[in-house]
Amino acid sequence: MTANLLDFDLEALAAFCEQLGEKRFRATQLFRWIHQKGATDFSQMTDLAKSLRDKLPASAHIPKPVPISTHVSSDGTIKWLFDVGGGDAVETVFIPEDDRGTLCISSQAGCAVGCRFCSTGHQGFSRNLSTAEIVAQLWFAEHDLRARFAGTNTGRAKSNDLGTKSNDTRVISNVVFMGMGEPLQNYAAVLPALRIMLDDHAYGLSRRRVTVSTSGVVPLMDKLGADCPVALAVSLHAPTDALRDQLVPLNRKYPLSELLAAARRYLAHAPRDFITFEYCMLKGVNDQLEHAQQLVRLIQDPVRGVACKFNLIPFNPFPESGLHCSDRETVLVFAKILSDAGIVTTVRKTRGDDINAACGQLAGDVVDRTHVMQRMQRQRSVMPSPVASAANLALES
Ligand code: SAH
Ligand code: SF4
Repeated sequence: MTANLLDFDLEALAAFCEQLGEKRFRATQLFRWIHQKGATDFSQMTDLAKSLRDKLPASAHIPKPVPISTHVSSDGTIKWLFDVGGGDAVETVFIPEDDRGTLCISSQAGCAVGCRFCSTGHQGFSRNLSTAEIVAQLWFAEHDLRARFAGTNTGRAKSNDLGTKSNDTRVISNVVFMGMGEPLQNYAAVLPALRIMLDDHAYGLSRRRVTVSTSGVVPLMDKLGADCPVALAVSLHAPTDALRDQLVPLNRKYPLSELLAAARRYLAHAPRDFITFEYCMLKGVNDQLEHAQQLVRLIQDPVRGVACKFNLIPFNPFPESGLHCSDRETVLVFAKILSDAGIVTTVRKTRGDDINAACGQLAGDVVDRTHVMQRMQRQRSVMPSPVASAANLALES
């Protein structure tokens, strides 16, 4: 088996070149050909030493990812489905905006965390993606979009707005790990992928524009802060352990006090001076006045609190969840309570609605190997109905 070069960050590629008896600095040229120019054929790499060009085909390859399907939304959002073998597929979504181009990528086929409101969680866990499979999503999207938008400004942010060089041809300015999977439960593959995304010889993305979103794997939040601090989003979804235990099962292992302490520690390394909390608005479950008030108290507690922004995500319903999205009015009232308390709060716009590209709709074709649906159905039968659960919380507070 020859080495898949999309697996290597620059350091690993330099070590690989050395093994082939080549100078380490050759790796930089090779890295640029792969990631900046999108080359897959070594014979194209004209300025690479002839000796290296001749050796590479026998020892390495750069697999060209081919999407099984591509859907383009009327709002410009593009969703690709990639086959990763063994009956598994993962999704990648490009979201164009005036001042940026964001790519939402997947880190696992399925997810083991099993959040109540997430369709990926409902599929169960299939497997971790490799570094190459994570990077391939960006590699493919960047070069496909450049070709699509060649000669136009469509879907492409102006380079000056991106804080990049004026001759920059990049389309993707931001990457968010908000597709399928829990990135911190696939840390070993995610870390080199982050390094490749940040490397100036590859995609040169700013740390502030690469966001890892986590349901709260506390020890690995610390490790990420030490190894490669990028922007961090924490999926909070509830103001109390009693409710979060039900919505995000990982809370039973890492409860709110530990999660908030880890978020505070992360701030010492973070490229931004706040953590983003994501909060999925579920009708009658976590969207009541008392939940907003409890959140304000939690977040602004002088000891337990943390500098943050809130991103309220309207729930994208799917039938098996048995849950509903909060009314628009309820979301706005909730947002106002947080904003009035001085917490910067945004309500996420839903994009790509017509192609099911929104959060939690990234179903792919993952096989339910872990029988998670049965477990969730059992759990749902013991979980109070949404309205009853809100009433329980009112009694608790
Ligand atoms: N596993 C990571 C990242 C992937 S999920 C995490 O949980 O943070 C990305 C975001 O989408 C998370 O905030 C998650 O809570 C949210 N999400 C999942 N399912 C959703 C749904 N059905 N509607 C709205 N947001 C959802
Ligand atoms: Fe996994 Fe994130 Fe979905 Fe929870 S919300 S099941 S952690 S992908």
